[in-house]
Amino acid sequence: MFSDRKFVVIGLGKSGVAASRLLLDRGARVLALDENVGATAPFEHPRFELRTGPFPAGFWEGAEAVVVSPGVPPSKLQVPANVQCFGEVELAWRTMPAGAGPLLGITGTNGKSTTTALLGELVKQQEPNTFVGGNLGTAFTRAYESSATPPYAMHVIELSSFQLERVTTARFRGAAILNLTPDHLDRYPSHEAYGAAKARIFDTQGKGDFAVVNIDDPAVVGLSRRAKVPVYGFTLDAARTNPGFSGVVVGSKDKFIFTFGKLTAFTVKNRALRGAHNLRNAMAAALLARLSGIGDDAIQRGLDSFPGLAHRLEFVRERGGVEWINDSKATNVDSSLVALGALPGGVWLIAGGKGKGAPYQPLVDAARGKVKGVLTIGADAPAIAAAFGASCPVHDCGTLQRAVEKAAEISTAGDTVLLSPACASYDQFQHFEHRGDVFKTLVNALP
Ligand code: ADP
Repeated sequence: MFSDRKFVVIGLGKSGVAASRLLLDRGARVLALDENVGATAPFEHPRFELRTGPFPAGFWEGAEAVVVSPGVPPSKLQVPANVQCFGEVELAWRTMPAGAGPLLGITGTNGKSTTTALLGELVKQQEPNTFVGGNLGTAFTRAYESSATPPYAMHVIELSSFQLERVTTARFRGAAILNLTPDHLDRYPSHEAYGAAKARIFDTQGKGDFAVVNIDDPAVVGLSRRAKVPVYGFTLDAARTNPGFSGVVVGSKDKFIFTFGKLTAFTVKNRALRGAHNLRNAMAAALLARLSGIGDDAIQRGLDSFPGLAHRLEFVRERGGVEWINDSKATNVDSSLVALGALPGGVWLIAGGKGKGAPYQPLVDAARGKVKGVLTIGADAPAIAAAFGASCPVHDCGTLQRAVEKAAEISTAGDTVLLSPACASYDQFQHFEHRGDVFKTLVNALP
């Protein structure tokens, strides 16, 4: 299928580079196209050519297939219907060696990375030879970039809706949708179209496969009707009766119970998994793991040992009885609401940055009785201060450094200092990881 055939790779970002390497390794000729005239080839190869700027007319001619990076919207790419077009997940699937184990796929609006990493942790307790990656982290094409790589026994893959659009045959033994809230409406004509892209995760499933869905989310339940395989649900509502599901897991506080098969209870006491949202992520991961044959002991061990992901309610330090938490990934109001919901109270909230135009009032409401004061930074500080008004003390700090110093000065034992900015970081930092790293450095440098 590959040797001496022409493939066109659209978009030479991380995933396009990995796809090109994989194809070259299999003997293909690669024409890489990138609209960005500044794009440069990361390597030289006699069968590799990069062209930048507008796509040349008829670039697909003679091509076996066009491999499209997730960042390229369908509207940007008009190729004749008879030309095969697919994405990196599909490419990796088609090059998986004999003996490679099944794929477990995770999608949703929020929690994908956490659930993917957590599921990786659960599965690896029993099956160390597991690939974990996808949308964030290591591109799936990297798994088999070289044809000499031995097969993995299991693949845990995070999938964005953009990637799912470009899946044609890749099949998921277990497929999970965590939640569905309005997102990416810049790319999709409607919320329905966005949901339909996510539901594609079920379309290639067959006998022996299963689906996992959040049954507290009506939009997700709606999408699950598209699944042709047994559907398992997770919920935080014990009263929910669920005809139509093959089995349900019910969570409450710091534990969850499988109400089908062997009735096992698992505990979630790990600090890296605090909050109701993480209990849901844990239930999704445990369902995917158990239904793929991972034992209960391995699942509990993984729940206990999961180190968590950086910048998502990440524990930084305890200092004089005050806990410092880095939630820099919270680049919008909704994410900061999730963070506040996960903490008991006594919070000093550091917020601000490049606002996204959403109202801050929900944050003010959630802060009542929980937040002792707000320390503002960045461009949207005045808007945040205006929203909070007199409802709690607001300290205008300007920079993260001043906010950390001020928080250190005014917090007392039993308090929590939470960086959960509810804003993007670009006004003062390169990206949210940069902001979180600066925060951690500042906090760890406090005497
Ligand atoms: P994604 O990869 O989908 O962006 P992450 O695991 O990186 O998700 O989490 C991003 C943010 O989404 C977290 O900081 C938290 O605010 C929120 N979040 C995580 N899990 C959930 C969930 N199950 N439901 C709602 N929000 C969540």
